[in-house]
Parts: sequence; C-alpha cells; structure tokens
Amino acid sequence: MYVYNTLTNKKEKFSPLEEGKVKMYVCGPTVYNLIHIGNARPMIVFDTVRRYLEYKGYEVTYVSNFTDIDDKIIKEAVKEGVPASTVSERYIKECKKDMTAMNVRPATKHPLATEEIDGMLEMIRTLINNGNAYTAKDGTVYFRTRSFKDYGKLSHKNLDELRSGNRELKVSGANQKEDPLDFVLWKPKKEGEPYWDSEWCEGRPGWHIECSVMSKRYLGDEIDIHAGGEDLIFPHHENEIAQSEAANKKPFAKYWMHNAFLNINNKKMSKSLGNFFTVRDISEKYDLQILRFFMLSAHYRSPLNFSEELMESAKNGLERIITAVDNLSRTAKGAAAEKISEEEKEKLSKIKEYADKFEAAMDDDFNTADAIAAIFEAVKFANIEITEKSSREFAKDILETILTETDILGLTVERKEESNAEIDALIKERQEARKTKNFARADEIRDILKEKGIALEDTKDGVKWKKIR
Ligand code: AMP
Ligand code: ZN
Repeated sequence: MYVYNTLTNKKEKFSPLEEGKVKMYVCGPTVYNLIHIGNARPMIVFDTVRRYLEYKGYEVTYVSNFTDIDDKIIKEAVKEGVPASTVSERYIKECKKDMTAMNVRPATKHPLATEEIDGMLEMIRTLINNGNAYTAKDGTVYFRTRSFKDYGKLSHKNLDELRSGNRELKVSGANQKEDPLDFVLWKPKKEGEPYWDSEWCEGRPGWHIECSVMSKRYLGDEIDIHAGGEDLIFPHHENEIAQSEAANKKPFAKYWMHNAFLNINNKKMSKSLGNFFTVRDISEKYDLQILRFFMLSAHYRSPLNFSEELMESAKNGLERIITAVDNLSRTAKGAAAEKISEEEKEKLSKIKEYADKFEAAMDDDFNTADAIAAIFEAVKFANIEITEKSSREFAKDILETILTETDILGLTVERKEESNAEIDALIKERQEARKTKNFARADEIRDILKEKGIALEDTKDGVKWKKIR
C-alpha cells in the first residue's frame, strides 16, 4: 500500500511504526457554526482511509479533536450573549449529527481543547525549559522558530522570503516577537474572554499547541498518520511539528496526508468568503450518502468543484449501485437454483478481477475515484449476468463483493425499506383528520412524512406517496 506523504512530496510504501497498528490524528473543526461541506471533505476522506486500513487488518486508533476555544467561537458567544461553551457544545452536537448522517464513524477519541489545558501548560513549560520558547512582557509565550532547525520541512517554503515578507510588523513594533515566524503558544485573556491560570498570565492556548498535546496524550509522542485539509500544512502543521519534535525529541508523524479543497465555481469554499453550503443545507435536498459518494468520486488530493449537476450525477451513480444490489439481493434470496453452476463459477473470475482492481486503486494512495470505477464494472457485469436462471450462490458471491467494497467507502447501498404499515397508518390518520376538518393535524402529519422523505400526492384514486430522498 502506498501513501502520498506531504513531508517528502512522494508516494511512500506504508509501514506503520508498530506492526498491525495505526495511530492516526485528524485535525477537526472549529465549532462556532454548522459544518460546511468543505469541512465534510476531510471527515469523509479520512474516515474512508480508516475503514480501508481496518479492512487491511490494521487496528486503527483514530483521534480527531474539536477546537472548542477560539476567537470565532468567542465572537459568536458575544453576539448571542451566551458563554462560549454554549456555542461550542451546541455545534459539537450538531457536527456529530452530520457525521452520523454521512456515515462518518465516531473517532476512537474526540478530545476537546478546553479539557486538555493541563497538558498544554506542561508542554509549554518543557519548550521554555529547552530554550524553544520565550515569554514576552505582556505574558504571551512564543515559540522560537529559529531554535528548531527543521522548521519548514513540511511546507517546503522559503523561510527567508516569508521572514522578509513579515518584517514590517517587527520593525513597527506591532508585536513582541524575536522573529516574524515565531508563533503564539499562550496568550493573555482579553476582557470577558474565557481564561485559564498560568505562571505567565491568565490566558488561553494558541491553536497549534492544542493538536500537539491532544495527539501526544491519546496516541503518544510518535504517530503514523497526521491529516487534515491542505490549508493546514502551513502554518498549523508546520508549527505542530516544531512544538512536538522540540518537546518530545522524537519524530512526530511518519506520514502527513492532506486533502485538496472543495471549491465552488472554482473558488475555495470557506466560511470567511461566505460561499458555502452547510451539510445541513445539502441534507434538505439529498440523502447524505449522495454527498459522500460525490466526495469519493474524486481523488482526495484533487480539487473538487461542487455543483448541482455533479450532485445529480452522483445521485444517479449511487442509484445504479443500489438498484444492482437490490436485484442481487432478491436473486440471492429467492432464485430457484441454489448451487452455483460450473459456468457461473468461471464467470466469477471477472468479479475477482474487478475486486482486485478496487483494491489496487485503494492501495495506490486511496484512489477512491478508480475504486468506484471498479465497482461500476462489477455492477455492469451483474446487470448483464444475473437472469432468472442465475443461482442464489452466484448472486450472493457478487453481492458480497460489492457490499464489502461499498462498506469500505462507507456507503449504505441497501435500499431503505420503509415500514409501509407505519406510513399507511399516518396517511389514514391524515384522511380522518381532514374529514373532521382538523387541518392542523393533517398538516402536521404531512410534515412528519416530509421529515421521513415522503411526499404525498392527492390523486383521483386516493392519496399516493413516494420517497423523495
Ligand atoms: P476549520 O474548521 O476551518 O479548522 O476546518 C476543519 C477542517 O476542514 C480542516 O481540516 C480544513 O482543512 C478543512 N476544510 C475547510 N474548508 C475546506 C474546503 N473548502 N475543502 C476541503 N477541506 C476544507
Ligand atoms: Zn490540528
């Protein structure tokens, strides 16, 4: 299996620190708003990486944080007139709902920055003692980037250019840094902000130290994979490396993986640009399995443009798989012939070939686009080969291969069986309500059904319903 490593700018053969085990950290969202579909990309992509690693037999410990203290959270809290924790707790809850709907499995651990302050104070102390950090007059603690000789190894940037680009700041005395590339580890509170006590000042941590500490606490000093969106390479991940390696004196992460951006009209989707859709917006129109399928239809390192058209084509693509799975299930359960015939056995070699293609694509830096193409080949094969004469065993073998693959991608492809009895009962109740002119209840029932993705149609033959998502 090969993984593209941002650290070396190469695909490398994957070999974890400890045989059979993978320790993985994925930078999570800052929780001041509902997550947008750009934030969903790393969630879906790295959840798929995790699923594939597990399929390959690794025991994966997957840690992903929530940044629950930050300027944006405080700003939102001030706007609403509530404590910052009210905002962060609300959006963590909402984020978890979105994750479930996108079939993103909960991490082994989701640490919260505000619960890890002691570890941060400890790491900052170590950095100060080692000469890697210093305290300014107002109590701000900075990391001394010049003290870490490998600074810049991840982002491959020209640091001198970066330094000179930031020189004016220093000259103007706008900050108290020794070097423009120094960054904050701890900063003084501002009036009305949440704070923690420390020997330097009452204040709060910088963003970068949070991840170094949470990764260390739950995974140890050295980990296998550290991941996030490509915007995090610099400065966030570069700074994490500097902090962790200077404090722990060990290499931090072996593989650095970064997803490319989700764009809209070829511009990056971001909260600050205001050109975003939340996952919740999309869920009003589409089953989120379709969003997941859309995300995985491109390689994670390629930019992906979001459009209605592409979502529609993802919807059709997924539907094609669902229909094939449906047919295969019916044959696997109900065909007259049970045992596989010799002829069918031979044909199964084709399915094996497509399964090998799937695996080869995933082994090649998680190329989900090619992996999906291999599933489509199997689907096409099934659509041609499954007839009334097919045996149950033949259908079952094909079905299991496809389901193993869709499960690795985290896609639910079994057609959702609605409890028709329940829906029929609600429709009947609505009819009664209308007869007795209880229109409020009738409308309420229509809304309940809509929530379930059921649309009602009043026809001359009575009320018909159909699934709209
Ligand atoms: P944030 O809440 O901005 O810290 O972002 C959380 C995660 O989402 C990070 O890994 C970001 O790199 C990632 N991310 C944010 N916007 C996008 C986008 N438009 N496309 C892909 N990933 C994104
Ligand atoms: Zn991080």
